[in-house]
Amino acid sequence: MTYFSTDFTLGILGGGQLGKMLLAETLKYDIRTAVLDPSADAPARFGCQRFEQGDLLDYDTVYQFGKKVNLLTFEIENVNVDALEQLEKEGVTVYPTPKSLRTIQDKGLQKDFYKKHNIPTAPFEYFSSPTLLNESLIQGKWSYPFVWKSTRFGYDGNGVKIVRNDKDLASLPQGDCIAEEYASITKELAVIVARNAKGETVTYPVVEMEFHPEANQVEYVLCPARIPQTISERAQKIALQVAQSFESIGLLAVELFLTQTGEIWVNEVAPRPHNSGHYSIEASYTNQFEQHLRAILNLPLGSPKSKVAGVMVNLVGEEGYTGDVLYKHIEEVLALEGVTPHIYGKRQTRPFRKMGHITIVHPNIEIARIIAQKVKETIRVIAKK
Ligand code: ADP
Repeated sequence: MTYFSTDFTLGILGGGQLGKMLLAETLKYDIRTAVLDPSADAPARFGCQRFEQGDLLDYDTVYQFGKKVNLLTFEIENVNVDALEQLEKEGVTVYPTPKSLRTIQDKGLQKDFYKKHNIPTAPFEYFSSPTLLNESLIQGKWSYPFVWKSTRFGYDGNGVKIVRNDKDLASLPQGDCIAEEYASITKELAVIVARNAKGETVTYPVVEMEFHPEANQVEYVLCPARIPQTISERAQKIALQVAQSFESIGLLAVELFLTQTGEIWVNEVAPRPHNSGHYSIEASYTNQFEQHLRAILNLPLGSPKSKVAGVMVNLVGEEGYTGDVLYKHIEEVLALEGVTPHIYGKRQTRPFRKMGHITIVHPNIEIARIIAQKVKETIRVIAKK
């Protein structure tokens, strides 16, 4: 099959910033694309050959969209997986596989998977409601603090809560959940692995994620992570083991905890391009979006090596501002060395909404981090008055 400059069409479920950045690569390769997203204003509405508006969780919408493309992929996990499985049965190639997505969509199933494959992860227990979790607490099987996670549809930390006392416990919403041992984290790391249908793999360098203390959102991503070589080798080995266990096709971003006792635990995975890999657009031989394309098209994979150190700063809407977005002081930021902004194309800002990111490259990671801080302190994502 020839993909380049033909009628071959790649369908992408989800038209957010990840879809938009993937389209930059399909344009490079001259591959036709169709995008489905619920919002008429989706960032990826430009740059594809066909844009459809529709519900990603609706069976018929996803099924009908999938029937019209040659290969189907997604940039978000919350899609109708029943439709993907049916499409697969009818001969449509869907990568990453619906089977792996089904496991990943449910944090309980995902954790069971790690246990079954001897992948190190925080000890956990599944409960069908917080009431049963409470009983387990009374029986002394669990004690504060622990981490509560909703098994489904959590995003950017909203389905996760550190439970420290009875009051926290009482505030938990109903529904299936897991309790997880509270990890004493020294650093949060991530490793992206790409795997194609031939089973070839490449593993990106380990990155380090720094979080915003209140919003529980990633603020900075640093590549390479500032950790000893032995730890990064161990982290890459674990990430590769995870990708091979899933027999994943496409990208698999593996989020890890480095604990105070030097253990590495898998937190969760995302079967798609990931925020922790955005640095690769400027800093790597092959950026994560091109790599995802190569992997799902079963093409030779590109080098995951870095050309230079990179730091990514997430641009999120400032607290107290909702409305038409204004990127204040962006000119001052552009005047700094090695700085590239990525503006996602969302017209409206609101507190903590992901509006864009800025990558800083420099031969020295410590200097890149200092420039990143300056960027963060200078630019403001606010609303026009
Ligand atoms: P989401 O799927 O919403 O991104 P995560 O499972 O990644 O949620 O958790 C969000 C954040 O919560 C993590 O990045 C980490 O900072 C914290 N966290 C999650 N699980 C644990 C744990 N077992 N121990 C300590 N902190 C945790």
